[in-house]
Amino acid sequence: MPDAVGADDFRAVVRGFLAENLPVDWAGIGAIASHAEADAFVADWRARLAANGLLGITWPVEYGGAGRDKADQVVLVEELARAGVPAMGSNDTFGIKMLGNTLLRWGTEEQRRHFLPRILSGEDRWCQGYSEPAAGSDLAGLRCAARLDGDQWIVDGQKTWTSRAREANWIFLLARTDPRPARPHQGITFLLVPMDQPGVEVRPIRALSGESEFNEVFFTGAVTAADHVVGEVGGGWSVAMTLLGLERGEEAATNPILFRAELDRLLAMAAERGTASDPVMRQRLADAYTRCEIMRFLGQRILHQVLVSGTLGPEASISKLYWSEYHRRVTQLALDVLGADAMVVDGRLPLRAYRADDPGAPNTTGSWVGAFYNATAGTIYAGTSQVQRNILGETVLGLPK
Ligand SMILES: Cc1cc2nc3c(=O)[nH]c(=O)nc-3n(C[C@H](O)[C@H](O)[C@H](O)COP(=O)(O)OP(=O)(O)OC[C@H]3O[C@@H](n4cnc5c(N)ncnc54)[C@H](O)[C@@H]3O)c2cc1C
Repeated sequence: MPDAVGADDFRAVVRGFLAENLPVDWAGIGAIASHAEADAFVADWRARLAANGLLGITWPVEYGGAGRDKADQVVLVEELARAGVPAMGSNDTFGIKMLGNTLLRWGTEEQRRHFLPRILSGEDRWCQGYSEPAAGSDLAGLRCAARLDGDQWIVDGQKTWTSRAREANWIFLLARTDPRPARPHQGITFLLVPMDQPGVEVRPIRALSGESEFNEVFFTGAVTAADHVVGEVGGGWSVAMTLLGLERGEEAATNPILFRAELDRLLAMAAERGTASDPVMRQRLADAYTRCEIMRFLGQRILHQVLVSGTLGPEASISKLYWSEYHRRVTQLALDVLGADAMVVDGRLPLRAYRADDPGAPNTTGSWVGAFYNATAGTIYAGTSQVQRNILGETVLGLPK
């Protein structure tokens, strides 16, 4: 695959780091046999990235970053994805990608100086408290409430589907601070709340895969400091939307690499099983290949847009809709290639609950059935496909609401 951007000097630095820190016979993190071993590898790998200044590289130096530009960030994630290693630790999607970047846009100087270095050091691990039992797509319907009492906020309510809440010691959440706003999007406040306190209870939710990656979180008189508000009190909706854009679109550089590695694995499996000689299967495999290539072109277009303008617009929704629908189609195809064998789950499930199983993963039913479950969830989290289509219809095509 051609390099998306130039920045050759930095590319050489990253390749040098990889050569020094990975064994010569490294096949990708997917080749690690168990979840426990993979978790240990990720923890160690994260520490190496941090020690070498390769976490949060676009953040200013005064907050612990490396002050590099977005082109370097793209180079970094591309090279790490190609090498089959993660670009961050397990909770960093929430801490670095979502909250950290949002604090750079909306946070106060004190919040940036306090929280950003602690995110990079791993001292603070974050989770995301948006969804509630009666507020998902219709996020403005949220009921979790916060009221200011002296120098602290008191939070009462429930969040749900909170990924990795058990590993987190902080949660960023949306709470209603005005019970009777003129419009539902008003009167919502973006709060930073410590998890390690009696008023916060985390209950795991068991998913279809048998794993409990996400949770319910209950707040009963939970407290946080009055200045742990990001943006304006009552103005949390704008902050929340900045963060959702980051959640939906930043992977334009890595998705095509990971999905292409997964597709190559599927093509090899179809060849081994003799399925590739079936004309209908061949057509479906060719269709998957074509879609994966389109994802790569789309990714390059989005990256160009980000590098030129510095922000992600509705492209974030195009990317989210495209990769998640692609992945459902391809994992269904993989199960069809496996045929009746897919009914018996053999071998470990994917190492993470998101997107493709990692490079180096074996062609087992455990890997593919798990990827199929992940793909279904992919069309729901970070905004469902229907919601992405609504956003695109309204903001790109200008259709009436
Ligand atoms: C694996 C996973 C991890 C998650 N992690 C987190 C997390 O860490 N933190 C967090 O806050 N949330 C998390 N979520 C929750 C996720 O954001 C919500 O599930 C999602 O926003 C959809 O909300 P809902 O589940 O309430 O479905 P609903 O909003 O009830 O939607 C049900 C169906 O109705 C459709 N629908 C709803 N409104 C419309 C509309 N206006 N037009 C057309 N169709 C519509 C939807 O597309 C969907 O098909 C996670 C979800 C998953 C699956």
